[in-house]
Amino acid sequence: MTKIAIVGCGISGMTLAKRLREAGFEVDIFEKENAPGGIARGFKAKGWKDSVEFFYHHWFQKDTDLLELISELGLRDRVKYRTPTTVMYHKGKFYPFDSIPAAIAYPGLGFGIHKIRFGLAGVYLRLTKNWRELEKTTAKEWMTKYAGEFAYKTMWEPMMIGKFGEEYAGQVTMAWLWARIYSRTTSLGTFDGGMQELFDLFAEQLRSAGVSVRLKAHVDQIERDDDKNQYRLVLGSGEVREGYDNVIVTTSPQSMLGLCPQLPQSYRSQLAALKHLGAVVLCVRLKHPLSPQGYYWYNLPKNEGYPFLALVEHTNFIPKERYNNETIIYAGDYLPRGHEYFSLTAEELLEKLKPGFKRINPEFSENWIIGATKFAADYAQPVPFVNHSKAIPAMKTPLTGLYFISMSQIYPWDRGMNFAVRWANELAREIIGNEPAGKEFSF
Ligand SMILES: Cc1cc2nc3c(=O)[nH]c(=O)nc-3n(C[C@H](O)[C@H](O)[C@H](O)COP(=O)(O)OP(=O)(O)OC[C@H]3O[C@@H](n4cnc5c(N)ncnc54)[C@H](O)[C@@H]3O)c2cc1C
Repeated sequence: MTKIAIVGCGISGMTLAKRLREAGFEVDIFEKENAPGGIARGFKAKGWKDSVEFFYHHWFQKDTDLLELISELGLRDRVKYRTPTTVMYHKGKFYPFDSIPAAIAYPGLGFGIHKIRFGLAGVYLRLTKNWRELEKTTAKEWMTKYAGEFAYKTMWEPMMIGKFGEEYAGQVTMAWLWARIYSRTTSLGTFDGGMQELFDLFAEQLRSAGVSVRLKAHVDQIERDDDKNQYRLVLGSGEVREGYDNVIVTTSPQSMLGLCPQLPQSYRSQLAALKHLGAVVLCVRLKHPLSPQGYYWYNLPKNEGYPFLALVEHTNFIPKERYNNETIIYAGDYLPRGHEYFSLTAEELLEKLKPGFKRINPEFSENWIIGATKFAADYAQPVPFVNHSKAIPAMKTPLTGLYFISMSQIYPWDRGMNFAVRWANELAREIIGNEPAGKEFSF
């Protein structure tokens, strides 16, 4: 039986494990953390019925690959969609901005030519599928030309700077912005009980099907034995696991570079050229709701003194009764490695955030705060430049039997769980295609 090791137990690793086990492979997953779920995993405080994700997560109605997978797991009835309100800032106030009527009513673009051009560009982007043409130019150039400079500067530039920082905002390809506009819906979904529950149940099903899911197992090195045509894994504990015909790595490109020094230089250069930002998220628990209007997602204007890109009142999406009547707020931002937020404590970040709370709700007071936790990730948002499709390293590396799958290869779509599943399905098909038909396995 073909033996395969998967490094990482996020949604990509688990989807691959399911597909390959179903095709008759012997599958071992190695995950460095103490729970499955990767960057989408979560935690549950005492008294809560549901977990919350470390980094805010929701799904869109068009996330069909993910929904199909959840159906296969027999858990589709636990996916719940709701339509919470997203708001944009204009001159000291926030306005809903998540439907066509709301966009028409939004005063930030006035009610004349700027709004008409913004609307027409939006309609075109919802209809076209020709992203290959769009990837030849930057979002800044395309939007300035078609939606107009005023609309770009007012509507898109703050989001581009928030997502990619001043350094990269003007260089990101239009194909990425097209994909965001094309694929998103206002109705947002999540898993009843929290996404951690989905990952725990998924891991349980994998184990029952014979997959070895090892947690707290950091892979330090992947070594290829050319004579045997096999791989060996060296774990952080010093343990060595041998005899793998295939290895799939689901980590960041930078980790992949460190894991396998035998990778040829050409592939290493492709990995090294990929750029990304990290994320810092503060999750704050309050005794009372913050948003007086019950808004879910605030796009914050950093140039107006707000210290984060987004403020998300999670309990205006999932009822607060699930969390012992607490209000749960996320404040998050995408930041380059070395930004001071990575080294600040939760308390220090909270100090920066408090004036923002007060601006959103003047009644907010210190004694509303129950606690705050900081989560940070070095690898959170890949940066796709013009013609990115030509710069993406293939999932099949030049070393026979070694594969790599990451958020940086998902394109033109913005990284997301749905696309992690789609890419994993494709990779599994490719690997299984090289394999004589195995015993079918049912979950
Ligand atoms: C702030 C933020 C918000 C997001 N919001 C959304 C959203 O709303 N909706 C959505 O669909 N997606 C969202 N995403 C994206 C989504 O989380 C990812 O697309 C998806 O979780 C990626 O899954 P993955 O399995 O490819 O990678 P990961 O989840 O990163 O999994 C990789 C795994 O490998 C493990 N690992 C790394 N190195 C080693 C090693 N050496 N040894 C062993 N294990 C190792 C890691 O611990 C991790 O568990 C968001 C991401 C971020 C950062």
